[in-house]
Amino acid sequence: MKISGLQKISLIDYPDHLAAIIFTQGCNFRCVYCHNSQLINCQKNGSQNPREVLDFLKNRQKKT
Ligand code: SF4
Repeated sequence: MKISGLQKISLIDYPDHLAAIIFTQGCNFRCVYCHNSQLINCQKNGSQNPREVLDFLKNRQKKT
């Protein structure tokens, strides 16, 4: 999995919960309204290490 970004805290994307957002690359749709179209044709490998992102998420489980 190519991960291009990690937003560690979001207060609006999962109502009534703290959340994190992971931005991945490689979507094969072409929605005209896409907020992250710069990631669709991105040739670079993800800038985030998937193992580090998963470790971060595991560490955050059950924390409020
Ligand atoms: S909005 Fe963007 S990321 Fe989501 S499915 Fe459409 S093209 Fe893919």
